[in-house]
Order: sequence, then structure tokens, then C-alpha cells
Amino acid sequence: MQSEIKRCQNCKQEFTIEPDDFVFYEKIDVPPPTWCPECRLIRRLCFNNQRSLYKRECNLCKNATISMYSSDAPFPVYCPRCWWSDDWDPMEYGREYDFSKSLLEQIRELQLVTPVPALSTRHQTLTNSEYVNMAHNLKNCYLLFNSDYDEGCAYGSEVENSEDSFDMMMAESCHLSYESINCIKCYRTFFSVDCKDSQDIWFSRNLVNCTNCFGCTNLRNKKYYIFNEPHTEEEYLEKLKEFNLGSKKSIQTAKEKALELHMKFPRKFMHGSHNVDVSGDYVHNSKDVHNTFIGTGSEHCRYCMWLIIKGNKDCYDFTQFGENTQNVYETVGSGINLNNVKFSAICVGDVHNVEYTQHCFGGAYLLACIGLRNKQHCILNKQYSKESFDKLRAGVIEHMNTIPYTDNSGRTYRYGEFFPSELSPFAYNETIAQEYFPLTKKEAEEQGYLWREPDTKDHKITKNVDSLPDHISDIDDGILKETIGCEHEGKCNEQCTTAFKVISSELQFYKKMNLPLPRLCPNCRHYQRLKQRNPLQLCHRKCTCDGVKSENGAYKNTAEHFHGTDHCPNEFETPYAPERKEIVYCEQCYQTEVV
Ligand SMILES: [Zn+2]
Ligand SMILES: [Zn+2]
Ligand SMILES: [Zn+2]
Ligand SMILES: [Zn+2]
Repeated sequence: MQSEIKRCQNCKQEFTIEPDDFVFYEKIDVPPPTWCPECRLIRRLCFNNQRSLYKRECNLCKNATISMYSSDAPFPVYCPRCWWSDDWDPMEYGREYDFSKSLLEQIRELQLVTPVPALSTRHQTLTNSEYVNMAHNLKNCYLLFNSDYDEGCAYGSEVENSEDSFDMMMAESCHLSYESINCIKCYRTFFSVDCKDSQDIWFSRNLVNCTNCFGCTNLRNKKYYIFNEPHTEEEYLEKLKEFNLGSKKSIQTAKEKALELHMKFPRKFMHGSHNVDVSGDYVHNSKDVHNTFIGTGSEHCRYCMWLIIKGNKDCYDFTQFGENTQNVYETVGSGINLNNVKFSAICVGDVHNVEYTQHCFGGAYLLACIGLRNKQHCILNKQYSKESFDKLRAGVIEHMNTIPYTDNSGRTYRYGEFFPSELSPFAYNETIAQEYFPLTKKEAEEQGYLWREPDTKDHKITKNVDSLPDHISDIDDGILKETIGCEHEGKCNEQCTTAFKVISSELQFYKKMNLPLPRLCPNCRHYQRLKQRNPLQLCHRKCTCDGVKSENGAYKNTAEHFHGTDHCPNEFETPYAPERKEIVYCEQCYQTEVV
């Protein structure tokens, strides 16, 4: 078989389908894709709303609930307690397949009547953690998303097994830490990135087993370093006092100085370890995994994202979250023992042979179902015998190709396409799509996406951000009563909520750690952290090691490299685009410099 160049039905750009891809499509019995990998990713991300939360009524118990669906959603929304109860039966909404309409049209009709859970959480696993989504096993947490097993954390995403930490992104086993990204087993780590097994770290990048370091990068087993220079303990502590870190202005100055230094040191072309034959970013313990971002313990996977729990094999276009999954294709928000799950959203726990299905917990042989638990042989929430299911399924798939769905932009959906974004219950800017592929309202509408104006009616700003004292020592408990206006005033494109509050545990944390108050709302803070993370795009590049120094001359190598004084010949796929200023080294050159 040969690779084939296709033109994306959506963006009209060319993309390549490799021979290996054809083998996979044949194996799981789907036609090759008509959309390019990036357009397919965005289409799935449109079904993933983590952080747009609303207060609304549960349509069953009528109590107030927190929901990822606003109160004007055109379908019933049940609070998690009601949705998971036996007080309603999703099979009541079952219907005959209608051969006069397309399947996706009929799914839309089923969507409009079938109740969905207000949040993607298991309420039984949450203690005093009401304002969270896609999160489980939390205690005393607030505005935490895509996170598990945390206590006393707030404003974070992808935070696992952590305690008393705020504004973290991609944290694993962190404690008393703040504004840090991709840190593992860190204690009192602030404004830092890619650190591991370290404590009392400020404004640092890529440290392992370090303590008391400030503004450093690429260090291993070091103590009392400031901007990569060694100091005595006394000097270090004296300097730290001088930095005056309780002041917002001082924090800004330190941040800029650290960033300037970090740009003069090499970075590895991707984040990853213990891999064999992989491309992507933040990939660990994986084999034959390509174009994948944030993945662990996977094998033969392509175009995946957030496969954070191990045991995923032969999966393509699978976005969030995995764990013992196989033959999953074009699926989002699903995991835990899946096999042969296609074109589906939120299918969790022992699910196999399922297509075009949403909110399904346990089950097999389902087509176009919504909200079922442990059912078999159903189409459009209607029960069939095994024989009639097989026969009808074959008929429906044939019918999907003879009467395809056409969306409002004229794109056609035959068997083999994921749900069109117009079938998403969310507007583009409520979803993860806006975080990674931000659009303006105009751009979104031109591309046929829904857009939602932010709700601002709840916020009466009582404290202007300009009137906040610069230093934390000038803030008292009175701040807890204030509604502070976000510095962005809703003018950014970052799901700005225009105002925010400071919660009591957060204020105690700032006081204890001597940190100034933030000036942005939690969503805007999240978007600033996202900008420090690499994009979900790869480019082919050459190592920027020019023999004895980096190509730009900013970094002088400290050891002899395998290529001697010649330019390194290695090439790779990297999320660092060629126009970026970072010094990007291949695995070998990087390992020679940073052990
Ligand atoms: Zn495309
Ligand atoms: Zn904001
Ligand atoms: Zn190199
Ligand atoms: Zn080199």
C-alpha cells in the first residue's frame, strides 16, 4: 500500500494518509478520513467543555445546580444526583429508525429530548468541591478541571494527586505550589515549568532534584542557585528577601529576567521519556505513538491527546482520557476498558462495539444512543435482539452513505465522520477548541461554529484592579467580600469572566507564601499558562546545535558532541516552530548537555 495525499473537506489543505493508517482503517472497518488531522481534532474538541460553568435548575428535582450547560440549553439537564438515579429511564426516549432522514438528523432529535448530566463528574467522589468539572475524587477543591485525587486545590487543570496548590497546570503530586506547569513531585514550587522532585523553586525551568533555586534552568541536584549561579545558603536567603516577592511588580520583573536567561539554554525537541519511535509532545512510556500530545503508556496510537492513563493500544483520533483501551477511533472524553468504540463522546467503563453514541456508561453493540447504562443491541435508545440489531445496523450504515448529513456550511457526513460541531451542545468558545485553536467571534461564525456571549450579569465589580495594593502585606480579609474586576475587562478572547473573587483558603495561601494577589480572572490566568505550553502542532526541523555552540550563538556547549564541531545532522518532529526563538536540541545533543 502507498501513502495518499488528500484534500481536507473542511480547511481544503492537503494531508497525507500513510500506509500504516490504511491498515488501521481497514482493521476497524471504517473508510479513510476526509478531514485533515487538525480539523478532526478541533471537531472533537468542540464537544469538550471543561470550564464554562453556569448556575441553573435541574430539570428533574428543580434544585439549583452547577452545570456546563447554560439555562437556555434546548435539552433537559439533570443534576448529577438525579442523572445517576433510577428516577428516569433513557429508554423512554427510544425511537424507530427513520429511513426518510439522515442518521445525524435523528441523533439531533434524540439529543433534544434525552436528559444529560449537568457535569462530567461522579458526585459521590467529590467532597465540598461543587465548582469542578471532568474531575473525580476531590476534597475542598474549587474551579478545578480535568483533575483527580486532589485536596485543597483551586483554579487548576490536569492536576493529579496534589494538595494545597493553586493555579497549576499539568501537575502530578505537587504540594503548596503555585502558577507552575508540568511539574511532578514538587513542593513549594512557584512560577516554574517542567520541574521534578524539587522544592522551594522560583521562576525555574527543567530542574530535577533541586532545592532553593531561583530563575534557574537545566540544573540537576543543585542547591542555592540564582539565575544558574551558585550561592551560599546565607547569600541565597538574603537575595530572596531582596527580591521582595510579595509585590506584584517584583514578581513581574523576576519573571522577565528568568525568561530572558532561559532562552539562552537548549531545550529538548519534545517533552518525553522512556519512548520508542514517538512524535508529539508530553509523551511518556510509549511505543510507536505519533502526532500525539500528552500521552502515557500507549502503543501504536496516532493523533491522540490526553491519553493520561496507561494501557492504550491501536487508537487513532482519541482525545481524552484512556485506560486499557483498544481500537478506539474519533472519540472524545472516554475511557476505562474500551474496545472498538468509534465516533462517540463520553463512553466510560466497559464499553465495546459502540458507534455515534454519547453519555454511555457500560454497554455494547450500541449505535446512535444517548445516556444508556449497561445496555446491549440498541439503536436510537431502542432495544433490539442481536439478529435484528446486526441487520438494522448494516442498513443504517448503508443509509448513512446514501443519505448523508449536510451541515450549515455544506460539509457532508457519511459513515466514518465524527459528529458535526453543530450537533455539539456547546458553543465553540465554551469548549477546549477555543483554548488550543482560539477564534474571534467573527472567525467562528464564518466557519459555521456557534458562539456564546459571556454572561456578565452576575458580576457587580466592587474593586477595581488598579486600586489593589501592590504588596500582599497590604491586603486584609476584607478582600474576600470584594468582586475584583479582571484586568482584561472581557476584551481578550480568553473566556474572560470580567470579574473574580478571592476565596479564603487562597488568601491564606498567598499570605503564608508571601505572594501578591492575581490581577486576572481564573479563565484568563488559565489562558496565560496555556501560552507557556507548546501548541498542538508539529513541524519538521533540524537540531539547532552548531557543533560547539547553538546556531544563534547564545549557548556554548559544555561537552563534546557525537558530531564533533560540525552542525548536528539530526532532524525531528517538534512543537517548536522554526520561527520560535528557543534553542532546540535533538535527544543526543540535549543529553550531552543536560544529564
Ligand atoms: Zn483540515
Ligand atoms: Zn479575565
Ligand atoms: Zn543534535
Ligand atoms: Zn550537538
